[in-house]
Amino acid sequence: MSKGFLLVLSGPSGSGKGTVGKALMEKRSDIMFSVSVTTRKPRAGEENGKNYYFVSEKVFEEMVKDNKFLEYALVHNNYYGTPKDFVYEQIEKGEIVLLEIDVQGALQIKRNCKDAVFIFLLPPTMDELKNRIVKRGTESEEDINTRFENAFKELDFVGEYDFFVVNDKIEKAVEDIEAIIHAEKLRVKRQ
Ligand code: 5GP
Repeated sequence: MSKGFLLVLSGPSGSGKGTVGKALMEKRSDIMFSVSVTTRKPRAGEENGKNYYFVSEKVFEEMVKDNKFLEYALVHNNYYGTPKDFVYEQIEKGEIVLLEIDVQGALQIKRNCKDAVFIFLLPPTMDELKNRIVKRGTESEEDINTRFENAFKELDFVGEYDFFVVNDKIEKAVEDIEAIIHAEKLRVKRQ
């Protein structure tokens, strides 16, 4: 059985990581989603244990101390982290583990894990990015502005990723990611 690998998907808020990730997993049973831990408050419709594990800052800090995270970061004023045990278990089972995480987290993974593929999801334009964040209607005006400003900072890091995918049409973005997965499965060696 082949060993699994990490599929790290980053991109600014509004790039459509969540939607593309969901569509990808609906299509394929060999991809497991890594549910992150966060101190952010749940949005309407979000479920604990499904979208995130929602915890207090105190609990998050304890988890950091207990070395429970593969990576963690402060993103848009909240903490987010990837639970280590789940990822390792799935990789050992030969699964592909999808991490939807920010640039800071991706850079930590890059330093610590050699079996990871890094994909940066881009919106077709920055205007479209802002439209999507506003249309989602889940953030306050202040949060929208923070997320939009952070988007520009994150774009500076595209060069750290193995691939970029433009999310204009969801189906096309999913196909592009599947092509990357296919190539990764055929990989002979890493540089
Ligand atoms: P949101 O609040 O919109 O769900 O997520 C905000 C940002 O945090 C997104 O860029 C998302 O990818 C990132 N994020 C979610 N989970 C994690 C995680 O476990 N680690 C890191 N570093 N970022 C995460």
